[in-house]
Amino acid sequence: MLRIAVAAFLGLFSTAVFSQTVLIENVRIFNGVDHRLKPGHVLVVDGMIETVSKDTIDAPAGVRVIDGGNRVLSPGFIDLHTHLAGQNPRSMEKYHPTVAGANAAAMAKHYLDSGFTTIRDAGGTHPDFARAIEAGLIYGPRLFPSGAVISQTAGHGDFRAPHDPHPTLESGSPYLGHGGSILADGVDQTLMAARENLKAGATQIKIMGGGGVMSEFDPIHSLQPSPAEIRAAVQAASDWGTYVLAHAYTSEAIERLVVNGVKCIEHGLLIDDKTAKLVADKGVVISTQLVVYRTLQDLPGVSERNLRKLDAVLAGQENLVRLIRKYDIKTGFATDFIQGGYTMLTREFTERAEYWTPAEIMVQATSESAEVIRMIGKLNRWGNFGEIREGWVADLLLINGEPLEDISVLRDPESALALIMKEGEIVKLRL
Ligand SMILES: [Zn+2]
Repeated sequence: MLRIAVAAFLGLFSTAVFSQTVLIENVRIFNGVDHRLKPGHVLVVDGMIETVSKDTIDAPAGVRVIDGGNRVLSPGFIDLHTHLAGQNPRSMEKYHPTVAGANAAAMAKHYLDSGFTTIRDAGGTHPDFARAIEAGLIYGPRLFPSGAVISQTAGHGDFRAPHDPHPTLESGSPYLGHGGSILADGVDQTLMAARENLKAGATQIKIMGGGGVMSEFDPIHSLQPSPAEIRAAVQAASDWGTYVLAHAYTSEAIERLVVNGVKCIEHGLLIDDKTAKLVADKGVVISTQLVVYRTLQDLPGVSERNLRKLDAVLAGQENLVRLIRKYDIKTGFATDFIQGGYTMLTREFTERAEYWTPAEIMVQATSESAEVIRMIGKLNRWGNFGEIREGWVADLLLINGEPLEDISVLRDPESALALIMKEGEIVKLRL
């Protein structure tokens, strides 16, 4: 009885119930792929893009008509790398775990209000958070969770002090007090950790594949999971039809990850030419971020050791971008945006303008990122998104200004976005 009542309650608030037929007239369409705008009109039915036409579309009965006023219509934005619940575990340590949930909800709201209709959580957020968004209990973008990150003991996901006891899966949830990590050593533990995430609803698996900046005890140069451990995570993921993304900076780490089946490298700042070519040849993605490395020193709780490691990886940033361009490596748009500095999120758009044209950045933040997220294969229950095409999900933004000429209009989403639509549901309309 109770279960039926709960189901009815969830159904009432699900986006499907609220979605309606909407006709958006008189817009210039950035379809997510082409570097130019095409005038047209878009009809949205039941959360999907039904018609895209250069000619006027006859409004069906009961349709809601929005006059776009010749504004730019874009697919919703996508961030490939964030951590809603506890990017910076040490700053959250002094609070009860419920605070991490409240913080994650605030971040999710900030994302959607900034025009991000899809985000990939790169570890630490329980997949239930994605379900709660889908059920309409939490306001936020469509979330693709990686579950708890999988790290070896002493690795980039081992946030314990040296005297802390070793956590095991039996000791409780990896999301509470463990920095959103599962410490796994050896093939069997890695298989179990990955399968535990998949059971919880992770859509892809995240492993810590080498030394990191924000952990205290692992050097950047450290190689972390063994080849057999990497293959174990890849096996568990590919058995579910999905893939592994891995944190890594150095060429040695990236090469080991890629030859053992990892499909997406996170960060990658210290890659060399030979390894970049290998990455390109294997069709592997490098999801990297600019702003976070340029502002990390301002975060509370950053130690001297963290800062030294930060300097070492930041030195490689320009070379990484050069190699991404040279070998045409798929990169998408990602921020690793850290809670507390909400103005940082959209700054990623403007910092990228140092290296990429506004049109290239718009493609990264829409169709290219969507291709990366859809690497989850058969786990994708949502259909195609990230482009304005007939039969695709209606994640749409109406933008004030000319983002294909001046990306800085996106710096202030409050004034830049006239319409935010997620799966056909209007979440903001201010014409
Ligand atoms: Zn991260």
